[in-house]
Amino acid sequence: MNKKIGIFPGSFDPITKGHEHIIKKAAKMVDKLVIGVGINSNKKCIFPIKERKNWIKCTFSKVDNISVETYEGLTIDFANKMNAEYIFRGLRSGLDFEYEKPIAEINSSLNPSVNTIFLLADKEYGMISSSIVREILKNNGDAKNFIPDCVKI
Ligand code: ADP
Repeated sequence: MNKKIGIFPGSFDPITKGHEHIIKKAAKMVDKLVIGVGINSNKKCIFPIKERKNWIKCTFSKVDNISVETYEGLTIDFANKMNAEYIFRGLRSGLDFEYEKPIAEINSSLNPSVNTIFLLADKEYGMISSSIVREILKNNGDAKNFIPDCVKI
């Protein structure tokens, strides 16, 4: 029987508790979930790719069906490379949806056999974002309630 494989792409700069809860939800829906840490030349990340990947690996070290890879280029190509049928993305608000919808439509036209699945954030996590965490850290605030213990900043 074919295994159901999904990818969860993102920048994870850094991974937050918001990512953590939505990724655990996604992992329950497939046999194998590959988290793709995207290297995007248009997006300047604060934390090095190696560190971002290691924090994610540590966060999900006890979840058997989750693995972590880095990728460059199109997300749909990464999905194809992983033999994935699904691309998972999280939604916190209508704004996220407006941003995600055209990307999902383009990906679907590039490869109609890969479906994008949107998962809604639980309400206690909906306000967490990497950019808010970076802002707290920049101003010497305490971000520990918003990031997994594995993120050592
Ligand atoms: P990208 O730069 O690709 O948007 P991010 O790391 O910011 O990468 O986000 C990756 C995915 O995680 C996106 O689908 C985003 O909507 C989702 N996400 C981020 N924070 C949360 C959260 N608090 N709850 C649910 N989903 C989230």
